[in-house]
Amino acid sequence: MLSIKNLHAKIDDKNILKGLNLDIRAGEVHAIMGPNGAGKSTLGNVLAGRDGYQVTEGSIQFNDQDLLALDAEERARRGVFLAFQYPVEIPGVSNMEFLKASVDAIRRARDLTPYSSIDFIKLAREKSALVDLPADFLKRGVNEGFSGGEKKRNELMQMMLLEPTLCILDETDSGLDIDALQLVAKGVNDQRRADRSFIIVTHYQRLLDFIVPDYVHVLANGSIVKSGGRELALELEKDGYGWIDEEHV
Ligand code: ADP
Ligand code: MG
Ligand code: MG
Repeated sequence: MLSIKNLHAKIDDKNILKGLNLDIRAGEVHAIMGPNGAGKSTLGNVLAGRDGYQVTEGSIQFNDQDLLALDAEERARRGVFLAFQYPVEIPGVSNMEFLKASVDAIRRARDLTPYSSIDFIKLAREKSALVDLPADFLKRGVNEGFSGGEKKRNELMQMMLLEPTLCILDETDSGLDIDALQLVAKGVNDQRRADRSFIIVTHYQRLLDFIVPDYVHVLANGSIVKSGGRELALELEKDGYGWIDEEHV
């Protein structure tokens, strides 16, 4: 589904990603861990096509398309979804309007009829209940005044409604208590499908007790320096990242 080869990317004039390789097959869950400032969010942002990042070398193949040739909107329409580490607030635009516009655009791109307002409201209420957000959050401005945990749950609800094929969750578990964490995990597990893949950026092995990844990668200094199975997350929790500096700079 996704094949990243020798990816180099910079912000302003700072090189952040320095030769990153990653291959993800349909249906797989890949966890990405690593020290702060390693480039994890940059990777997510580059995949989603967010402004401000320049790819200077390498390629990203997504379902046989050259992902880098598509703009952010086109990538979203083709199924790339990024749940931001720091979700943005859009005051004045209601969550419901925003979600409906996003879902309509994606359904049109997939040759599906947009939902009627009534059907969409029903669906959105169902999903908000699944992530434990009271229905009145649908009427509020997008993320406006939401707490950290509420923003994360809102991102998850968005993901459920958009039905992406590549889901990138950037520290969606940060700042969540254990109940909310389990809820996020359940949301992700319910969404796992043979034709949907996940990149889960997390600092905490405990999330991976609930979302069992197929692979765990360590991203450090702009590239993947180690990959393994779920046991790697346990080793990292125990040993930290101190070993990286000696072996990988
Ligand atoms: P991580 O998510 O792994 O903590 P990031 O991808 O957010 O790391 O950041 C990687 C590096 O890029 C850090 O050194 C960070 O300070 C820098 N960086 C991120 N965003 C910007 C930006 N908009 N402008 C300049 N530097 C940035
Ligand atoms: Mg970080
Ligand atoms: Mg980050």
